[in-house]
Parts: sequence; structure tokens; C-alpha cells
Amino acid sequence: MFDYDPSKCQDEFLKPAFKKLNLDSEVQEILQTPQREIKVEIPIRLHNGKIRRFEGFRVQHNDFCGPFKGGMRYHPSVDMKHCRALAFLMTWKTALFHLPFGGAKGGICCDLKHLNTYEKEILSKNFINKIFPLIGPDIDIPAPDVGTGETEMAWYFDAYAKHNGYMPSVVTGKPLNLGGVDGRTEATGRGVHFATLLAAKAHGFDINNLKITIQGFGNVGSHAALYLHQAGAQIIAVSDADGGIYNPEGLDIPTLFNEMQPNKDAKVNDSNIKHEYISHEEFFELKTDVLIPAALEAAIHSENVERLNVKMIVEAANIPVTNNADNYLKDKNIPVIPDIFANAGGVCASYLEWSGNHQRYSWPKDKVFNFIEDAFKDTWRKITEVSEAEQISYRDASYLVAIERVAKALYQRGFY
Ligand code: NAD
Repeated sequence: MFDYDPSKCQDEFLKPAFKKLNLDSEVQEILQTPQREIKVEIPIRLHNGKIRRFEGFRVQHNDFCGPFKGGMRYHPSVDMKHCRALAFLMTWKTALFHLPFGGAKGGICCDLKHLNTYEKEILSKNFINKIFPLIGPDIDIPAPDVGTGETEMAWYFDAYAKHNGYMPSVVTGKPLNLGGVDGRTEATGRGVHFATLLAAKAHGFDINNLKITIQGFGNVGSHAALYLHQAGAQIIAVSDADGGIYNPEGLDIPTLFNEMQPNKDAKVNDSNIKHEYISHEEFFELKTDVLIPAALEAAIHSENVERLNVKMIVEAANIPVTNNADNYLKDKNIPVIPDIFANAGGVCASYLEWSGNHQRYSWPKDKVFNFIEDAFKDTWRKITEVSEAEQISYRDASYLVAIERVAKALYQRGFY
């Protein structure tokens, strides 16, 4: 996929911090290498009687600061390389926010369009049946990601309970009725909105005159759009896998949001709101203040970065900007608010769900949102302090803070 190699991408992002921290080369290797990689075969009988085998993955990158933590993705692109890069990112995200977690990622390589609910349940539960000894409330805690949500998390929780008894903290992003936390569904988009407001303020943008484009209108993109619209910004374009919709006066986001919510397969271009259809290429060429990629990795790469007409990028998706594109944006002084900061709202809410499950307590939604807001303000303050003091980008500053914490934990825990 263009200039994106998931295994190399992350190594490049780490280099400036490793240099500044003057870390021993063996320690660098330890921090770059996943502690465990799991691949399982999951054969299931489909509804039509045919047998099909799927591959499931879980990469446990690092647990020096707490149990492995990260999402499970159901998508045809899921493989070990992608899980490795995404697990790696989780380690730095949780460390940046000082959450008591490490980093992991996993998923199943599958095309959800070809599976019914019954097949998805069997697939999900069989996956957990294969990996249950290697996950647990204080070992590794899965969560939703692309293609998964509270339904799959409920199935994981149930499959794990069959082996180990009632342990809701084994997985986050569960339905409220099963120990989920109120606000988890909205949390990542809520955090993207806080990140955008903080960065916009730091760069002197007025939120009421801010034009925003959002690639991806799934869980994260749609909630970020709704909160930013409520904050006063104009969302002039959004897109999904089939293309984009545009209105230079600002899209009617609340109506679009309500139209899309009940039907996961709905396309933004089918909406009744006033809009014109645009292609993926046209979407990226629009003049906008803030571009928020909220779909998949490598959306902005060496072949489209020069055509962007933006003042700032807020990374709602994981790794949406490749290294080459990132270097180009650095040269052009276009600030990039990095994924490990911007999309951490979900893992902040997951922390409250997990710690609440341990105590059999459920946090109310306003407290969840207050916690996320405070976490974003504190972390942004730290990032901007380091960025200014060291004269480095927000991404490099974020990695510096995160790596320093994980490396310190490694030395404190020792090598025996
Ligand atoms: P989702 O499956 O709900 O939505 C993904 C959206 O991206 C859909 O609207 C889909 O149509 C769109 N899309 C796919 N390919 C596209 C393309 N080429 N162009 C435009 N749109 C495209 O997933 P999500 O949970 O919203 O996750 C989105 C991103 O955010 C992922 O990178 C994920 O890893 C990251 N993330 C999610 C969470 C979370 O809590 N869900 C937390 C942190 C990070």
C-alpha cells in the first residue's frame, strides 16, 4: 500500500526519541519487539453447511507498565504485520496518558459482508476459546476496533467466563448491561474533539470559524463530527469507504448522524441532507482548516500528501499518516496531532470500565467524559511543554514522554 510498511513505520517514529533518550541499543530492541505473537486457526461451519477457516491474531507488545491492552479488528487486511504495528502504538498511547496498561492488538482476517450474526458469534467465541489462557483481567484485555463493538465484546466476555467464571474486566467496550461503562461508544470521538479543540486553540484558530473534513464516518469519525459540530465548527465534508459528501456551507451533521446510526451498512452518500458527492481523491484535495483521518492506516501517503490543502491534521485513526508523508508535513510546518494522543479517549474510558469492573462499580457518563477531558488537558500540556523545550514535533514529543516512561519501568523491574 503506497509507501506504508507497518513494521517499518513505527520504527521510524521511535528513532528521534531513542536518540534523545540515549537508550542502549539492546533496550531499544526490547522496546521495539513484541513480547508475544499469537496466530490461531479458527475453522467454523457456516450457515450454509460449508466449512471455512479463518486466521486470528493477537500481538502482545509490551506489559512493563500494566497488562496488555488493545482492540480486536475484523477486516480483510488483518495480519500479523498490521497487528504488530497497532499493538506497538497501544504501548505508547497508554504510556503517554499514564494509564496502568501496556499495548496489544489483534483481530480476525475476515470480510464481515459475508458473515451473518450467528457465524460472527461462533467465530468470536472460537477465537477466545483458542487464546483464553493468554488473556485475562490482569494479563491482556481486548477491546473494540474496526469491525467490532459491544456485541463482539459481550461474546468474548461470555466465552472467557465459560473457562474462568464471571470476570467482566477481561474485556472492555462491553454493553452497559454486562459491566460496560456509559460513554465508551462515544469516548474515542469525544477525545478526538478535545484534541482538536486544544490544538486549534494553541494555533490561534477560532472554533466558530473552523472548517473541518473527516475521512471515515464510523464510530470514531461520526462521534468526532457530532461533538465538533456542537462545539461550533463547520464539518464541510465527510467520507466512507464508498466516497465522500461535501457542502461548503457545512453539512447537517446531527441529521446525518441520526440517519447513519441504526444501519451500520448505510453510506453517507445515501443521506437526505444537502450535499454533493465527491470521490476519495477530491475529498483529500478540499481546502480545509483541519483534516481528521478517522478510517484506516496510511490514508495520507507520499502520493497524496502534496495535494492536501490543510492547516492541521488530527489523527483520529491509528497510523493514518505514513512516515514519508509525515516528514513532508513537518517540512511544510503543518502540525500533525498524533494518533497516540488524539484517539486515546477510548482507552481512557476503557480504563474506567476495567477499574470499575474490578470494584464492581460503574462510572456515570458525565464522570467518564470529565475524566477524558482532564486526561486530554494534562497530556496536551505535557506534550506542548516537551515540544517547545526540545523544539520537536508533537509526535516526537509524545513518543519521548511515552518511551521514557516505559524504559524507566523496564529498568526499575530489572532484567532477571
Ligand atoms: P468503524 O469500522 O466504525 O469505521 C470505519 C469507517 O471508515 C467507516 O465509515 C468506513 O466506511 C470508513 N472507511 C473505510 N475505508 C475508507 C476509505 N478508504 N475512505 C474513507 N472511509 C473509509 O471503525 P472505528 O472504530 O471508527 O475506527 C476508525 C479508526 O479509529 C481506526 O483506525 C481505529 O483503529 C481507530 N481507533 C478506534 C477506536 C475505537 O474506540 N473504536 C479507538 C482508537 C482508535
